[in-house]
Amino acid sequence: MSRNTFYDYIIVGGGIAGVSAAEAIRANDKYASISILSEEPELLYSRVMLPLYVRGKIKREQLFLRAANDYERHNIALWLDERVVEINRKKREIATDRKRVLNYKKLLIATGGVPSQWKESGAQTVKMLQFQSINDADELRALLALGSKGGAVVVGSGFIGFEFIEFFVSAGFHTAVVSPDPWYFHHFFDSEGAEIIKESFIRHNVEVYNDAHIVSIAESPEGIHVKTKENLDIVADAIGAGVGLKRKVEMFEKAGLVVSRGVYTNEYLKTNDDNIYAAGDIAEYYDVVFRKRMLLGTWNNAFLQGKTAGENMTGKEIVFRNVPNYSIRHFGLYISMVGDCARSEADSVIKLRWPYTDQYRELHLREGILNGALLINRPQDRNILEQLIKKRVDVRSHVNDLQSAHFDIHQLTA
Ligand SMILES: Cc1cc2nc3c(=O)[nH]c(=O)nc-3n(C[C@H](O)[C@H](O)[C@H](O)COP(=O)(O)OP(=O)(O)OC[C@H]3O[C@@H](n4cnc5c(N)ncnc54)[C@H](O)[C@@H]3O)c2cc1C
Repeated sequence: MSRNTFYDYIIVGGGIAGVSAAEAIRANDKYASISILSEEPELLYSRVMLPLYVRGKIKREQLFLRAANDYERHNIALWLDERVVEINRKKREIATDRKRVLNYKKLLIATGGVPSQWKESGAQTVKMLQFQSINDADELRALLALGSKGGAVVVGSGFIGFEFIEFFVSAGFHTAVVSPDPWYFHHFFDSEGAEIIKESFIRHNVEVYNDAHIVSIAESPEGIHVKTKENLDIVADAIGAGVGLKRKVEMFEKAGLVVSRGVYTNEYLKTNDDNIYAAGDIAEYYDVVFRKRMLLGTWNNAFLQGKTAGENMTGKEIVFRNVPNYSIRHFGLYISMVGDCARSEADSVIKLRWPYTDQYRELHLREGILNGALLINRPQDRNILEQLIKKRVDVRSHVNDLQSAHFDIHQLTA
């Protein structure tokens, strides 16, 4: 394959957003030159399946979603283990850490995010486990295979923290969760739904310390000490951090793109530069369903945004329209979040726990319109809720119905 310094399309980031964009471009433009540059040395793999790999349920090779010859077949030049360090918009040029300079006609930013670093005193010197890449998964798998009778601490109360809890418990660690929030998934769930999660933690002997503010993390011959403002001193052999995802926007800001927590795009996933698009976890895009800017961290969103951005880069004008959803299994609970689930975005909430079960549904309304839904063990409600949210259905006249375990939510389509 010839490797010129000019490409019609350059994609920064070889994750799912970048690869789906490259494939969409190829499907629409048979002859264009396309290149992907990615900082990670691996071919596209599934981050979603990493937990299964860590638990030993699948083999390492099953994580990979593309082989080298898939890129060759599509005539996509792939540069792995190479980081883009500068963008010069005037010259339509990018520079890499290998001192390579490439020119583009259209550029896609699909750089995802990196785990936020814990900044408390001592955290820099103690080995904090994180869970973002295949390397992290290798490390975790090796650690968990050893088993333990010791303790583990999980810092944070989000999705990655959830994975750590289950890993540690299943490997025999006595596990504690420490979080400044009053309950797990505090930004999403009301306290009633959170109670089901807490009950599940208790059933699995997970100690939960909420409203706990870590002031230091330090190592001693006894182990790792996690100390809080509330005078807790938890000693552990391992510590896993799941404190959010940070998007590295400095390079894009320096290039003159509009950024905030991510890179701003419009509903076509185009940035403030007509020749530059953004997709996936890095894109802070204008969402036409919720009529506001959104920043997501889900696989399906990254895949669909990559595809839409790729098509638009070839000259189409497709509005990105999608209702986000995320599901996770945890200690036998099946938790789904559909739509815009931040509690702070809702002005009223309709809650329902099915009697004597762990089934729960929480609907978030904004001015009567269904904005988001949280489900525990209610997979049958997921699709209909996605449709209702997409259609911006006003559910005010059904508030009483939606509080009854006997009302079938599918009636709302009528
Ligand atoms: C452990 C784990 C489990 C998950 N489980 C789920 C799940 O169950 N369901 C779900 O919906 N989502 C899940 N997610 C989230 C989902 O995987 C992400 O939303 C998705 O991978 C984002 O894809 P992306 O292509 O935008 O970014 P990424 O997958 O982060 O890919 C970005 C790529 O760009 C590269 N890059 C960054 N900067 C540069 C640069 N300057 N130059 C070149 N390359 C660069 C990075 O190295 C990386 O390879 C999970 C994530 C993790 C970590």
